[in-house]
Amino acid sequence: MINFCFTSWVVGFGLIGLFLHQLFYGYSMAGIYFHIPFCLKKCHYCDFYSRSDPNGIEEIVQSEIKELILRRDYLENEIVTTIYFGGGTPSILDTKHIIELLNCVRNNFEVSNDCEITFEANPDDLSEIYLADLYRCGINRLSVGIQSFNDDILKFLGRRHDSKKLNYIVDIAKLIGFDNISIDLIFGIPGFDTLVYFDSLKSAVQMNIQHISAYSLTIAEGTLFYKLLKNNKISEINEDILVDQFNQTIDFLVLNGFEHYEISNYAKEGYQSRHNSSYWNDIKYLGIGPSAHSYNQISRQWNVSNSKQYCSNIKESKSFYKIEYLAPEDKFNEYLITGLRTSKGISKKFIFENFNDKIWHHFSRELDKLFEQNLVSLVDESIVLTRKGILISDFILRNLYFV
Ligand code: SF4
Repeated sequence: MINFCFTSWVVGFGLIGLFLHQLFYGYSMAGIYFHIPFCLKKCHYCDFYSRSDPNGIEEIVQSEIKELILRRDYLENEIVTTIYFGGGTPSILDTKHIIELLNCVRNNFEVSNDCEITFEANPDDLSEIYLADLYRCGINRLSVGIQSFNDDILKFLGRRHDSKKLNYIVDIAKLIGFDNISIDLIFGIPGFDTLVYFDSLKSAVQMNIQHISAYSLTIAEGTLFYKLLKNNKISEINEDILVDQFNQTIDFLVLNGFEHYEISNYAKEGYQSRHNSSYWNDIKYLGIGPSAHSYNQISRQWNVSNSKQYCSNIKESKSFYKIEYLAPEDKFNEYLITGLRTSKGISKKFIFENFNDKIWHHFSRELDKLFEQNLVSLVDESIVLTRKGILISDFILRNLYFV
């Protein structure tokens, strides 16, 4: 099965990235991620951790504030240059909660003046008043989960919104002052042909926004779609159609001024997501909230996925996370996963200089095979996936991993 869509961002490794950022910004950088684990309705394809009862919002926010304070040393005084509200559905929050969380960050961490503050929002939650409040809170990057402009698709996906006010929301956001807007799109939806998807792609471009994330639908265990698939109520999309939609996405967005800078991400010049790029560039980040992940270049940590347990463990000063220290082979594998996702690719020289002989020999041997099959190419001294390679990136990574 072709698989070029990873819906979860993974941890990055690469001193090169860190070095470039230090060179560019003149200081070390770090990111903070808030997980807001509430969704009023579960989408049919989603396996992210969330709960539907919004009663516990206040408790979660107060627990996240406590966690922030408890872990104020985690980033070792590095300057916070990105803050990201993700979920779940952050747009379920009152602005008073957003202000409390941001104030807590500012009171406990050093935050850069130009900090990118992204807020994921469900279109249904966005009104003129709420957007204006978000802007006043300091949110400067809006990520709207549009997914499709087609009402039949939105219904099929189990989304809360319809297509009616999508353009209105984005126009209002721009009028209010948001000049860094991203939207999500999904392709590869069974039962809907490429023309229908292409209409959404065109509508997205017509919005004149700065960033588009386009993911192929993956049917993960534990979702309604997985159940329907097992019961033969839906079927997976034909691979040729999927490839066609992926190729059309790249061609159309590039033609319209977007750079394809990561497998699923496209940005106008200067508008790459700084926060997500930090995952691919070995930048430290602190993940706050149930199921949030953290990384500090030595280890990875992930918080317990259960909100109740998370809140009670924080309250009772019990451990609320697991930790994994990264061995050289883990770091090598992470470097591959994260680097090969991006248009910057990976560096042969970096691997030679930073990993042991066994890893290096394994890598060189496997890399030769990939070159022979035209799955990778050399661009400015970096190894990047070819378009053929992107389509089978999971297979490539499996072969390159050092286990
Ligand atoms: S709104 Fe987002 S996080 Fe919530 S169920 Fe839908 S896709 Fe998942």
